[in-house]
Amino acid sequence: MAQPQQRKIWVAGNWKMNQSREEIRRFFESLKQNWTPTEKVAVALFPTALGIAQAQESSKGMGIQIGTQNAHWEKSGAYTGELSGPLLKEAGVNLCLVGHSERRQYFGETNQTVHLRTKSLLSQGLHVMACIGETRPERESGNTNNILQAQLEALLMAGDDSFRTQACERLVIAYEPVWAIGTGLTATPAQAEETHLWIRNWLTKSLGPSSESISILYGGSIKTESFGELLNCPSVDGGLIGGASLKASDFGSLVRTAISLA
Ligand code: PEP
Repeated sequence: MAQPQQRKIWVAGNWKMNQSREEIRRFFESLKQNWTPTEKVAVALFPTALGIAQAQESSKGMGIQIGTQNAHWEKSGAYTGELSGPLLKEAGVNLCLVGHSERRQYFGETNQTVHLRTKSLLSQGLHVMACIGETRPERESGNTNNILQAQLEALLMAGDDSFRTQACERLVIAYEPVWAIGTGLTATPAQAEETHLWIRNWLTKSLGPSSESISILYGGSIKTESFGELLNCPSVDGGLIGGASLKASDFGSLVRTAISLA
């Protein structure tokens, strides 16, 4: 795990299309029972758009960032079903997930639209967590780094230098091997470290030393039992967690693991 003074360690939960308002209220009621706000670790949760207000209300004082799972690059317009940067800011949301593999797989998200969303949201002062990752056939055919390179180039090398400066200030990358998401298959610490180190080296080579501040999170079937050994990898700066973030006891335990290792 990286030194906290270099970059942030994150524990982020993606709730996908889960958690009613009542379930959110109960989640935080339970999480609060064993919770001390911390500066050591950045904690974030991504509820559905309809759950944002409840999550903000129920998590007051806990130091948890509440983000959205997606947002459009235009500020307003005829884009049915989308959210925009100004709407997020008005709702007190400062963080947005983009490019999750489920959006790429089911909703036509491409490397180019991930770039457009990221560039626009960063330029509006928001923080962005952008997901990248290879599928199983891509890993098995030895193409992991080629795929990641194409995703990173599309994400960061289009656009100008001021965009890349903003990225160094407010972007987080979540490396999520698609074969590990929701499948119960977690990358081994050795696989995670090898890939995170490759991403770190790409960032340094392409964006220079300021990219040291970009945290690289691992995501893919993280469990309370496996998180510690992933965090012990020097190039892993935290986790993006789906299934195991839905239960307050598990999420609290993941946060405590990160605090104990930070
Ligand atoms: C995710 O949705 O980003 C994720 C990593 O899910 P899971 O932990 O359930 O694999």
